[in-house]
Amino acid sequence: MNPPAVLQERDEAGSSFEDRETRGHPNVPPGATPAIRTDNLSKSYGRIHAVQGLTVEIPAGIVAGFVGPNGAGKTTTIRMLLSLVRPTEGTVEVLGSPSTRPHEYLPRVGALIEGPAFYPGLSARRNLEILAELGGFSAERVGQLLTRVGLEGREADVVKTYSMGMRQRLGIAAALLPDPALLILDEPANGLDPAGILEIRQLIRQLKEQGVTVLVSSHLLSEVEQMADWIILLHRGKLLYQGWLEDLLEQRQNTLLVRASTQQELQIVAAEARKANYESKLKDGYLSILAPPEFAGQLNRSAMDAGVVLTELHSERPSLEETFFTLTDGEQK
Ligand code: ATP
Repeated sequence: MNPPAVLQERDEAGSSFEDRETRGHPNVPPGATPAIRTDNLSKSYGRIHAVQGLTVEIPAGIVAGFVGPNGAGKTTTIRMLLSLVRPTEGTVEVLGSPSTRPHEYLPRVGALIEGPAFYPGLSARRNLEILAELGGFSAERVGQLLTRVGLEGREADVVKTYSMGMRQRLGIAAALLPDPALLILDEPANGLDPAGILEIRQLIRQLKEQGVTVLVSSHLLSEVEQMADWIILLHRGKLLYQGWLEDLLEQRQNTLLVRASTQQELQIVAAEARKANYESKLKDGYLSILAPPEFAGQLNRSAMDAGVVLTELHSERPSLEETFFTLTDGEQK
């Protein structure tokens, strides 16, 4: 059996970044230093290999989605990026500096990991003021940031009255205090309702427009699909895919779903598809043909010529989630 298209991409994962010079991206000047670069990055905790041989490059000026099921190694990787955890093997470079010299890049990095912690009895403004004082940032930024994350008008309310979404936005405001070039958000949509997720997504897109590179982790591809330009797929500590979202989307194999009056007629249609080199299989009363949407017209005509009337014919593309399922052989939980 041929490996799925995306698996082939895995071998070329390192070359995808170079492709941007030819493909181009409005936010990525050719030859720019990547925001994040890791080489053969690994972290083991005893016998647990949390991250294994991860080699990635994340262009600056974009939103990168870091995706993998629970336990894939996302948080461990993020901790190594932030120099909170020392790699067992391999190297990390953030904003052009190695993780062995964190003082060179950490002042330009904002991060929100494992949910924000605030004084619940104090207002959002006071919480941010305290963090600004502790971090040596200008208190003037507090008001601007509250507006930037959409909390203006609610800044005097105590944090314990805040919704999850408002807390996450306040957490992002705190991460923005150093005016970072790179913002790292670990599962910012966790625990949010659909409206909250939408708000965070819009905020992340705005931040990108303002020139911030954003790395956002999630266990759901469908969540980051809406906002990420670049995708890194991680599974059991290993890289499955990295590259532009649009390239990943292109790799989803289209299927044509066909119905006819009898099974025998579907066999005839399958033979017609095979003549054009498209494989098919019977599934839930449908004939499912791995073929592009453009083949539908030709198929309809050749079925007619063979005396078969198609009672249904439609084209379907799997979601990214389903593509990921193919990649992980359905192991994703
Ligand atoms: P989640 O979304 O569930 O947090 P994740 O992709 O962020 O998943 P990690 O938290 O990085 O994954 O965990 C990867 C693996 O490493 C898991 O098996 C986890 O149990 C293990 N692990 C992480 N931190 C430690 C630690 N400090 N000590 C031992 N094992 C750890």
